Amino acid sequence: MKEEKYLETPVFASDRVLEAAPSDVIPKFPTNPEVAYQIVKEETYPQTNPMLNLATFVTTYMDDYATRLMNEAININYIDETEYPRVAVINGKCINILANLWNTPETRKWKTGAVGIGSSEACMLGGIAAWLRWKKRRMEQGKPYDKPNFVISTGMQVVWEKFSQLWQVEMRQVPISREHITLDPQLALQYCDENTICVVPIQGVTWTGLNDDVEALDAALDEYNAKTGYNIPIHVDAASGGFILPFLNPEKKWDFRLKWVLSISTSGHKYGLVYPGLGWVIWKDKKYLPDEMNFSVNYLGAEISQVGLNFSRPGAQILGQYYNYIRLGFEGYKAIQKNSLEIARYIWGEIAKFPQFHNYAQEVVNPLFIWHLDQEYDKSAKWTLYDLQDKLKQYGWMVPAYTLPASLEDIVVMRVVIKQGFTRDMADMMLADMRSAVAELEQLAYPTNSRIAYEKEEKQKGKVFTH
Ligand SMILES: *Cc1c(COP(=O)(O)O)cnc(C)c1O
Repeated sequence: MKEEKYLETPVFASDRVLEAAPSDVIPKFPTNPEVAYQIVKEETYPQTNPMLNLATFVTTYMDDYATRLMNEAININYIDETEYPRVAVINGKCINILANLWNTPETRKWKTGAVGIGSSEACMLGGIAAWLRWKKRRMEQGKPYDKPNFVISTGMQVVWEKFSQLWQVEMRQVPISREHITLDPQLALQYCDENTICVVPIQGVTWTGLNDDVEALDAALDEYNAKTGYNIPIHVDAASGGFILPFLNPEKKWDFRLKWVLSISTSGHKYGLVYPGLGWVIWKDKKYLPDEMNFSVNYLGAEISQVGLNFSRPGAQILGQYYNYIRLGFEGYKAIQKNSLEIARYIWGEIAKFPQFHNYAQEVVNPLFIWHLDQEYDKSAKWTLYDLQDKLKQYGWMVPAYTLPASLEDIVVMRVVIKQGFTRDMADMMLADMRSAVAELEQLAYPTNSRIAYEKEEKQKGKVFTH
């Protein structure tokens, strides 16, 4: 590398653009900022356009004022409360608003909750609290507390595997199946025992877009707890659903209105409509947040509980969340979520018209859904949904294909997640590209590699193909 002598060199006249960008060691000399910017920017160009990415759940659009507000706060460290006390207060207001949206019975001025980097941190905190409450109870009873477990469906998100591994809490997975496409409450009870710290139903199951029936689980647990004398509570992982249900289905009981729901987590950066990373966890009452996790601070007349795995974290997202509450209001959120749901339902209806496809569920309850190849068509097809994923990628769309979890793992599905920013017109463009892609795949004379691999595996399990 040569030293850049003339800082006024035009960007593309610089020697730097002839060199490979650094990947192992820090460059010896500085680079002109415009050139440095260009080098980093260029590396991002081959990525999918975020607006065409139907794989991610995470917000890819915020309005100009939100963007301005967040950019202006880009240097704010949330934990620095003496320097930014109002950010901490705004955080407390965001917790209050969410707790009330979820019908908390807590009457304190400042509700009990915590901000996180995403649902992952929020789920961890909910899980740890459940574990510590269980441990305390076991100690008081003079019983062993070395074999904790929690119960969740096989439709769980990977964070729960992390929770299990990092805190060494056994994860007991209740299979979802063709008969029970969401968590079956009665079956879940069969996985519970005196060492169960909590059951975790999901609202907006990542794999399927469906909701576990929390109300039925609550009733089943109530009976079970009365019979056994256990005290097994519920933590709801509402990463997506936490910002959908209060607006689109306020009558449905899945939240703190239910007896055994003691904590709920969600992603502010999913349907909370804020750029990443932002998550929230709320407890039904302060008494469900173990003291060991709660570092309380008191200033400016506001008592704020400090709970979290991270110390420093960006403050901008908290301002973005608060801005959204003010800018959109309840009715604004409702209208946006409704539009996303309607677009998802529209695409669902169009997918149903493809003779090659079959929608997995008979309803779309969150703005995301999955489908698979029609069972009859699958017997003679020369391609799989992985091939369709590749084709769509050539058009710029990111639409993921994957296999469902254990006991449904023979089903390859495709998923779309519809978010703010995806219009009917974009849906039509995506569907038109999908029709072209499918038409191309139909012309194949020979099966694709992914089809050959799929059939080989399925034949071993006894599936019959007709070609
Ligand atoms: C996305 C998701 C998570 C993880 O959330 P992050 O905000 O990405 O950390 C956890 N659980 C469910 C059900 C999810 O959909």
